[in-house]
Amino acid sequence: MPVDRVEGADGTPQWRRSPGGLVTALDPVMRVNKGAWIGWAGSTDEAPEPFDEAGMHLVSVPLSATEVENYYEGFSNATLWPLYHDVIAPPVYRREWWEAYVQVNQRFAQAAAEVADREAVVWIHDYQLQLVPEMLRALRPDLRIGYFLHIPLPPVELFGRLPWRQQILRGLLGADLIGFQRPGAASNFLRLTRRLLGYQTQRDQVFLPDGRVVRARSFPISIDVAELEEIARRPETHRRAAEIREEIGSPAKVLLGIDRLDYTKGIAERIHAFAELLNDGVVSPDEATFIQVATPSRERVEQYKLLRDEVELAVGRVNGTHGRIGRPAVTYLHSSHDRVELAALYRAADVMVVTPLRDGMNLVAKEYVACRYDNTGTLVLSEFAGAADEFRQAFLVNPYDVDGLKSTLVDAIRLDPRTATRKMRSMRRHLVEHDVDKWASSFLTALTGDMRT
Ligand code: ADP
Repeated sequence: MPVDRVEGADGTPQWRRSPGGLVTALDPVMRVNKGAWIGWAGSTDEAPEPFDEAGMHLVSVPLSATEVENYYEGFSNATLWPLYHDVIAPPVYRREWWEAYVQVNQRFAQAAAEVADREAVVWIHDYQLQLVPEMLRALRPDLRIGYFLHIPLPPVELFGRLPWRQQILRGLLGADLIGFQRPGAASNFLRLTRRLLGYQTQRDQVFLPDGRVVRARSFPISIDVAELEEIARRPETHRRAAEIREEIGSPAKVLLGIDRLDYTKGIAERIHAFAELLNDGVVSPDEATFIQVATPSRERVEQYKLLRDEVELAVGRVNGTHGRIGRPAVTYLHSSHDRVELAALYRAADVMVVTPLRDGMNLVAKEYVACRYDNTGTLVLSEFAGAADEFRQAFLVNPYDVDGLKSTLVDAIRLDPRTATRKMRSMRRHLVEHDVDKWASSFLTALTGDMRT
């Protein structure tokens, strides 16, 4: 849901609009078109009755504790998430998780069928709801249905392992338009429909046996650039950025990683690479130190517990060897921060290190570029992040190549300011022209042709 539950002054639960690009982008579209937002409120407490808040009609779909375990932590985050991210962690295939996935998708489809006006437009988001397009079409053939996958879609060689591969593809094909982050994911999808369902495709179109035509295309998501830039420009953000640099011992250069603590993000790999540079004596801790912010995430899933141990062991080791009192080699925070603190971190960082092993888009890379309004700063970016399609001027790296990653970090640390400015200016030009409003309106225009956005 696009709102968070907060406690009101009298102790009763109230709702506040959540921060975040998706909500910001859809907010005006929802207002103009009297849209309803259907979602899970994020707890297993009783779901609130439909209500209006922040200009939106909100319909909450309940999940039981068992469904959170089987549908959300299980099938969504321990089957689909690792499978769709190149099997970086082994996916687990369990039939009771799949059954819960079908059941919950059906509930969402039912809720949408009840709320949508005649011939309304419904936009379904992300990997947790891939069956909804087909289910909803069966209930409401009059609707115009769009679907957007926020994460990568793997090629048939990996996707083909999924025991329910045909059901998922058929589920998605209930939509009129399917959006992906990268052109490569859209072509994976088209190939999957040929190989696993035997359908004909041409350019971005899939021809179904019943005569329907479904389109699959890339629509790279973005952020609210102006909003973040405004925060980055505030004097208080600058003061905080200077304070952060002082507090970590005023190194010449600050490297920064900001990620959810997820095995797809390549956090341990980047700490290891930085530690090797210090061990080799190529970089000294006075020349460069690292700040790694890792947001707690999916803490009940086993793989995430193991990852946390791995990262924290690596950080402890490098600091034990190379840190001094008041000047750690790696400053590590396992916590969430507000937008102002994040903007201050982005402003404090000379080199932003975004090296996921696989990532649908990676908004952190875009947020860094948004905050560097003075065209300073350097971005090191994994080829395996969707953002690499757009930020061709970044230092693009293969995060599996330790030597390549190390030498790229050194190049980024020692880059001459003129080249840095040229690179950043070009990335900013692209970003400013492709913000999240443009993403939403280009998808909705492609879906409807005539919707007011
Ligand atoms: P993912 O969606 O996989 O988490 P993205 O990079 O696309 O990865 O988006 C992450 C979002 O979470 C960004 O908007 C980023 O600012 C935010 N974020 C990341 N780390 C933190 C943190 N420690 N505290 C608050 N927000 C964070």
